[in-house]
Amino acid sequence: MTAAALIKAVDVRRCRIALVESDEIGTIGVGEATIPTIHWFNRIAGIDEKEFMRETRATFKLGIEFSHWAKPGHSYFHPFGRYGFASDGVSFQHRWFKAQLGGFEDDFADYSLNTVAARAGKFTFPATDPRSILSTLGYAYHFDASLYARFLRTSAERQGVRRHEGRVGKIDQHAESGFITALHTSRGEVLEGDLFIDCSGLRGLLIEGVLGTGFDDWSHWLPCDRAVAVPSERVAAPLPYTRAIAREAGWQWRIPLQHRTGNGYVYCSRHSSDDRAAALLLESLDAPPLAEPRFIAFRTGRRRQAWNKNVVAIGLSSGFLEPLESTSIHLIQSGIAKLLSLFPNRDCDSYTAQQYNRIIAEEIEGIRDFLVLHYHSTAGKPEPLWAECRGMPLPEGLRYKEEHFARSGRIVLGSDELFKEASWFAVLSGQGHRPRDYNPLIDAIDSGENLAHLGSIKAGVRAAVAKMPEHAACLVGPPGGAYG
Ligand SMILES: Cc1cc2nc3c(=O)[nH]c(=O)nc-3n(C[C@H](O)[C@H](O)[C@H](O)COP(=O)(O)OP(=O)(O)OC[C@H]3O[C@@H](n4cnc5c(N)ncnc54)[C@H](O)[C@@H]3O)c2cc1C
Repeated sequence: MTAAALIKAVDVRRCRIALVESDEIGTIGVGEATIPTIHWFNRIAGIDEKEFMRETRATFKLGIEFSHWAKPGHSYFHPFGRYGFASDGVSFQHRWFKAQLGGFEDDFADYSLNTVAARAGKFTFPATDPRSILSTLGYAYHFDASLYARFLRTSAERQGVRRHEGRVGKIDQHAESGFITALHTSRGEVLEGDLFIDCSGLRGLLIEGVLGTGFDDWSHWLPCDRAVAVPSERVAAPLPYTRAIAREAGWQWRIPLQHRTGNGYVYCSRHSSDDRAAALLLESLDAPPLAEPRFIAFRTGRRRQAWNKNVVAIGLSSGFLEPLESTSIHLIQSGIAKLLSLFPNRDCDSYTAQQYNRIIAEEIEGIRDFLVLHYHSTAGKPEPLWAECRGMPLPEGLRYKEEHFARSGRIVLGSDELFKEASWFAVLSGQGHRPRDYNPLIDAIDSGENLAHLGSIKAGVRAAVAKMPEHAACLVGPPGGAYG
């Protein structure tokens, strides 16, 4: 992703980009669900949507369904679109709380076009006209991560990125500055450079292996540290959403692609053995597995500096937040976007690096807090993991948000938070938080009028979904296949 984006931005007469990969090591091979910011990346990488869907066997994603999170048997949806009409903005949530505090009982899911469409297995593209309720839609994709990597590699190489196969062993540093000067590969190549982007995955070959940058461990907030993944045959039409199902020691994902379903169980090794995790995953599959289960160990947290000297860590080398809200690919894009806007001279000014580190840290901490909310706000789940998470001290930012929400129904956001009001509203409400009050300005609207407005949203959503095509009819696959 980084090479494909950089080659578009640099002057290829003055700047060369070398991509080093090792087939022997391979990629982590998971990461199939995205969020709507993927459109930004695909646009700057010059990717055509239909070609991308065909090449990566992608499906559309309208959000995530969380089952058994707030309490056993309960389910809610985190939609990528907005609630209410486009013109409602944040006032939807206050209209909703006013009605609710006045005794109105209904499911807020029925007021989100994304949610109702997803549950009906429907899809359509968002409208640009803000008067249309279709303008409240948002979407992302599920795709085959290995095919996406191959697709980007081909496109990057076509534009001038030079790929070097081989394992990086020896790494040279400048004697005084400590800057990295060259990489030596197992094939005897010596690759000199001015700026090194460490995309070596969890091992952080340069940022940690050479520069020893340090890591902030967040496993006291996000305790899962292992995953077991297995693909299974596709038995029914792919759903237009990801499923995240809470289990005894973590949660299970189900990601529908055109040609298979991606499954995985993310768990805490203090509360489950690998054998138990694999057994739980395999027995829950709705179709035969297509491979042996694969285990992945990880540590949740972030590199203390994503940019250190002339090394910028992008991807898993810069840190990892578990995949509950499918945010890692977004963080790669975000790293790329920030690097483009802070692109350095040869000297890699430490002020530029400092600014990069500051804004990356803010963003990842905001996402971390959003994930912690899912683990913390649960009830009636007796297993030790859930009991432990209910009692944990919260990060200050999350504690402040929860308190604001409880007092006034307001969602207070930092200036550059990834998840906006609709997402926090969905997850706070879905996890069982109920505010005691709402914005008093909504009292300018009479209660009857408010209920009538809510009724018209619900009817508008239902009517729009009735006219949408089935999700499967919108997919674009390879010629001759089910979606060709
Ligand atoms: C269980 C799990 C589920 C996930 N699910 C999602 C999801 O649904 N959505 C999402 O957005 N993200 C998800 N992620 C994160 C996602 O997988 C990663 O962000 C993404 O795959 C990018 O990984 P990477 O490129 O940083 O590292 P990797 O895929 O590990 O790639 C590292 C690269 O470095 C090369 N390399 C390493 N060492 C050397 C060396 N010595 N010499 C030469 N080359 C070397 C490797 O060959 C490889 O090409 C998930 C992660 C995990 C662990």
